[in-house]
Amino acid sequence: MSGQLTRLIKFCLILFAALLCLYLIFILSLTQGAALSNQAPANSGIVSIEKNQVNANRPALLSALFMHHHIVSESGRYYVVVNEFDTTYDVVPLRDMFSRMLLFSNIPLILIIILAICLPILFSRINQRRVDHSMTALNQQAQRLLNAFNIELPQIEHQSNIAKLSHALNAINEQVSIYKRETETNIFQDKLTGLADRHAYLAYLEQQLTIAEQENKKQALLFIDLDGFKQVNDSFGHSFGDEVLIQVAQRLSTVVRNHELSNINTTNHIEQSLSRLGGDEFSIFIGNLNQASRAVEVAKNVLQEIERDFVLGNKVIKIGASIGIAIYPDSASSPYALLQMADVAMYRAKTDGRGIFRVYSPEMGNKMRRYHYLLEEMRLALGSNSFSLSFQPIVHVDDCSIDYFESLVRWHHPIEGIITPAEFIPIAEESNLILELGDWILFEACRQMSAWYNAGMNKVKMSVNISGVQLKHRQLHDWVMETLSKTGLPPHALMLEITESCFIEASEEIIQQIESLRAEGVIIAIDDFGTGFSSLCTLAELPVDVIKIDKLFIDQANENQKYNKILTSISELGRQLGLKVVAEGVEYAEQFELVKRLGIQCVQGYLVSRPETSRNVGTKVLKENLNHIAATGTNVWLPKVDESTPNNTVPLRSIK
Ligand code: C2E
Ligand code: CA
Ligand code: CA
Repeated sequence: MSGQLTRLIKFCLILFAALLCLYLIFILSLTQGAALSNQAPANSGIVSIEKNQVNANRPALLSALFMHHHIVSESGRYYVVVNEFDTTYDVVPLRDMFSRMLLFSNIPLILIIILAICLPILFSRINQRRVDHSMTALNQQAQRLLNAFNIELPQIEHQSNIAKLSHALNAINEQVSIYKRETETNIFQDKLTGLADRHAYLAYLEQQLTIAEQENKKQALLFIDLDGFKQVNDSFGHSFGDEVLIQVAQRLSTVVRNHELSNINTTNHIEQSLSRLGGDEFSIFIGNLNQASRAVEVAKNVLQEIERDFVLGNKVIKIGASIGIAIYPDSASSPYALLQMADVAMYRAKTDGRGIFRVYSPEMGNKMRRYHYLLEEMRLALGSNSFSLSFQPIVHVDDCSIDYFESLVRWHHPIEGIITPAEFIPIAEESNLILELGDWILFEACRQMSAWYNAGMNKVKMSVNISGVQLKHRQLHDWVMETLSKTGLPPHALMLEITESCFIEASEEIIQQIESLRAEGVIIAIDDFGTGFSSLCTLAELPVDVIKIDKLFIDQANENQKYNKILTSISELGRQLGLKVVAEGVEYAEQFELVKRLGIQCVQGYLVSRPETSRNVGTKVLKENLNHIAATGTNVWLPKVDESTPNNTVPLRSIK
């Protein structure tokens, strides 16, 4: 509407200017006409009229209009006075003056004027058309954008192109800002839980640590890892696991709000103090740690919240969490390092028993570095044959004949020297490297035993330690049977040692796999018995042939009556269930005497022998008494009694 008005005003101004020009030309022409008529009276059409014939009343308006040229009228006709005499006027009729002077003498001028008026109008029209054309094209493009964004604008009739375009651009602008916000949210948000993702969280930590540095403030970070989440996923499926993670996120959000740690981003509306770092790992940031106890309070509250039952449909499940706390600037000063230190502390919480929190200390960092170093070195060692097996005999207490050898893995590191299994086996298990290492151990142990078996030791067995990770990830029956057939060892010459704690955690499927191996003739031993707190009744249910009583009981039995009683009852129970009982870690003659008295059939320990290399075993066992081996399928391995050690001075009366 305002556009039309401006155009109308413009048009009126141009018209006014044109009329003014015409008028000026007209006056100029008139003056010029009068002058010309005077100079060339013959051609000028000048006539004389008597003064008394003219109308006495001068046409004042006309005179004014004609800039006071002398205008007279006679018989209704108007004349311009060129010369005045006493009684007459030399006049030119006004009409002639027009036609002659105006039209003929000023034609070029008039043409120029007309052009001067018309050309701008023409150009303006052309320009207008061009603008209209571009506007239409722009509107079409805008419409395409509107279509792409699925925006429908109300159709308003007689709307100018500019108005249409302005409407469309407004709508597109609005949509783009919504789109921008959504994209930002999408980029920085964990899709499953809606929490800030690791990337956004680290960026936020960066900002906050800068503020803390300027203001000399302390801050803290909680690294939360769920305990038992993997089992939830394995038992109920991933979508169930996802639901649990969503509920965990909700509970953590509540903790963040309750402890007033919340800090919501104004652009994408994401909570910045809480993040799902990935998998079942979460983190909470405490921006203002006025008291160190604040982080501990938050951690305790998180543990409480996670330990509450999770109800999903008709299922109720229980999980827990392990939490690591790192404090800025004590533990670390960069976001990434802070997160890593909290991770290290969390790892410590896991190894210290789970369901607890630990605050980072530098000593933990050393442990972590050692962990990663050994893991890397172990990978290299696997490729360069740096592992070997040693063999420890387990003998019958009655005659010291060898019942079996336990194969124990050894790692000789090129720089560090011997690294004990107590240090590297847990790392191998944690990282699943035990699968690869365990394949090698089983094969090597079976290969060695097959050689000894063929050399005549066909009553001796080889025992191999199997870890929980292997039980979970290997198809036990097929894996073991394939190795036996590759190495040519009969199944009854192989024993598998599975710890009591692994048995407690074993699924029904794993138990079936163990059963099926037993059915093939493989012997199953329950290792470190007495440390896993399984009830003695469950022993009857388990698919085992041998109980290996943990060293702990042997160590304590002579001094502590309680342990003595436990040992007695385990031995009795084993006998009743028809299981062979082995006492581990027998170091002294008194211990040997005691276990024999208790009716325990076999012993393993330094008293008999430390683990030996295959070469030493071969020399000791196969090179002597070949006749005995041929007759019995085994050999005797007598304990060495070291006279210099007071504990070992008791004569082994009972050994024949
Ligand atoms: P374990 O299965 O209970 O193995 C027995 C451990 O007790 C061996 O330690 C052995 O050397 C030690 N031992 C035997 N008699 C005595 C004794 O009289 N006194 C003392 N103090 N110790 C004795 P080792 O070889 O250091 O192995 C430690 C643990 O590492 C093993 O405990 C087992 O859990 C694990 N391990 C060793 N080799 C393997 C393997 O090949 N595979 C797996 N999965 N674990 C292994
Ligand atoms: Ca063992
Ligand atoms: Ca053991």
